[in-house]
Amino acid sequence: MEIKDKIKQAALRSGRLPEDILLLAVTKTIDTDRIQEAVEAGLTSLGENKVQEILNKYETMGENVKWHLIGHLQTNKVKYIIDKVELIHSVESLKLAEEIEKRAAAKNIIMPILIEVNIAQEDSKFGLHPSEVENFIRNISTMQHICIKGLMTVAPFVENPEENRYYFRQLRELLVDINEKKIDNVHMDILSMGMTGDYEVAIEEGATIVRVGTGIFGKRLYPEKVNK
Ligand SMILES: *Cc1c(COP(=O)(O)O)cnc(C)c1O
Repeated sequence: MEIKDKIKQAALRSGRLPEDILLLAVTKTIDTDRIQEAVEAGLTSLGENKVQEILNKYETMGENVKWHLIGHLQTNKVKYIIDKVELIHSVESLKLAEEIEKRAAAKNIIMPILIEVNIAQEDSKFGLHPSEVENFIRNISTMQHICIKGLMTVAPFVENPEENRYYFRQLRELLVDINEKKIDNVHMDILSMGMTGDYEVAIEEGATIVRVGTGIFGKRLYPEKVNK
């Protein structure tokens, strides 16, 4: 697959191991037949930005895939996915972290999460302001059924991926800085950053998960009546 090859080249260019980078196939709006083809081609980690889409596809896709929630998560929907996803990428409020803690405790599991950072400080984006991240992590680090694995960002939409290099670097520096504070229970090693347009640059700057939809499945067709 072309993308796998590009990931490998970007890793090698930056002195990294290709196997340290997870290609997350973003399957929003894609039906399960087409997802199945991707799974057969070796893509078994799947990302969705809506809880309902995971629930719709969960049974059909079965046990051989791992789901990641990558989009904004409403507190009242945590209960539906708490034991169905491998990683929640989009934690950005205390209220949400508390709900995940509560639901994970009830299931007796430890939920791996990433903190979403609005690294370019865009009004339109979810995520914490970079300056808030350390305190937020300190506040939730004592929750026993949450494991903070790293940081995630949705970078600006740009024509030239080089324009995002600075933001990817900043997210990595933030992760390194926070790790150096040696907060109890906190050692982060995941950086979820880079999408179809900029995943190679993201890898060069340290991404360990790249979230690619269009590059795998082609342009998304949004039907007029979307089943939300
Ligand atoms: C849709 C989406 C992606 C994938 O976007 P592409 O440009 O199609 O690769 C990645 N991350 C998030 C959070 C998304 O919602």
